Amino acid sequence: MAVIRTVLGDIAPDEAGVTLTHEHIRYAYQGCEFDHNNVWDLDAVAEEVGRAARIMVAEYGIKTIVDLSPPDIGRHPELLAEVGRRSGAHIIAATGFYAEGMGIGFYWRRKSIEYLAEMMVRDLTEAMVYDNKLTPYRAGIIKTATGGMGPHPTPVGLNGRRIGPYEDRVIRAAAHAQRQTGCAIGTHTQPVDYTVTNPGIEMLDILEEEGADPGKVMMGHVFIKPEFEQLEALCARGAILQVDHVGIPWMHDSVEELDGELAVLICRLADRGHLDQLVFSYDRFFSHGRGPVTDEESDQENTRVPLGWLFESFVPRLAKLGFGKAELDTVLIDNPRRILAF
Ligand SMILES: [Zn+2]
Repeated sequence: MAVIRTVLGDIAPDEAGVTLTHEHIRYAYQGCEFDHNNVWDLDAVAEEVGRAARIMVAEYGIKTIVDLSPPDIGRHPELLAEVGRRSGAHIIAATGFYAEGMGIGFYWRRKSIEYLAEMMVRDLTEAMVYDNKLTPYRAGIIKTATGGMGPHPTPVGLNGRRIGPYEDRVIRAAAHAQRQTGCAIGTHTQPVDYTVTNPGIEMLDILEEEGADPGKVMMGHVFIKPEFEQLEALCARGAILQVDHVGIPWMHDSVEELDGELAVLICRLADRGHLDQLVFSYDRFFSHGRGPVTDEESDQENTRVPLGWLFESFVPRLAKLGFGKAELDTVLIDNPRRILAF
């Protein structure tokens, strides 16, 4: 029997319910752990985030939240477990790595593909490690990522791809771990890269070279700056397209502008028969370790999107375009439970 693996234990796929596939309970770059301005209290943050997640459960019927923060951007297993306990939401933790411009610490850059894959498999099947200690909690999804910080496209590397050498190794390891366990992969691609290539296809090429199942790959950030043909190309390969940044105007002037574009693209894909390949999320930062807000580190929209925006604003917008309850249940319930189960 396939299960969905949450930090507080395995659940039957039917128990997952409405699922957000890409959120961040805590988002923090490596190094912040020794910043005087970044001291934080586990109980206080668990209470604050737990309260937000509880509102999502009680008022909006969200039952499962995938925390797509790999260990190199602040994954904190005990915090995830506490948020699960205090909110009643099923929280799924990620193994894997972020993009090399922002993650994949030096220690891991020296490891082989096999070593990386073994770490991921052990996170998924035994338990995650935090601060050199084995925790009692297991991961339930693998994260991979490509691309720079922007605003310019990621340069082409020696491999002919806009994918760094360490990202390449992580992606191959993720494919091995996916094959061994059957679990899903959630990804980050850089929206600006869609203006010069299809970074989703570049990543899929590597994953499939190593035998991963594209039907288990949720491609992130594909709807921010794509041509419609790029989305169709990913669908044709059998990948899952993640609609994220609902209510968060990443690389757009307003929420209205991006949400409007997202809604049109979603309906076009559904009309073309790709409803089974869509999942939804915010990519919200429920807490973060970015230190004080300054000119260089400005406040981010990802921390501010209202908890119910998806249901109070975006769903009515979709409904006006003919995307109704049945379609919504497919993308919010049926697709995630199929993809996340292993
Ligand atoms: Zn994210």
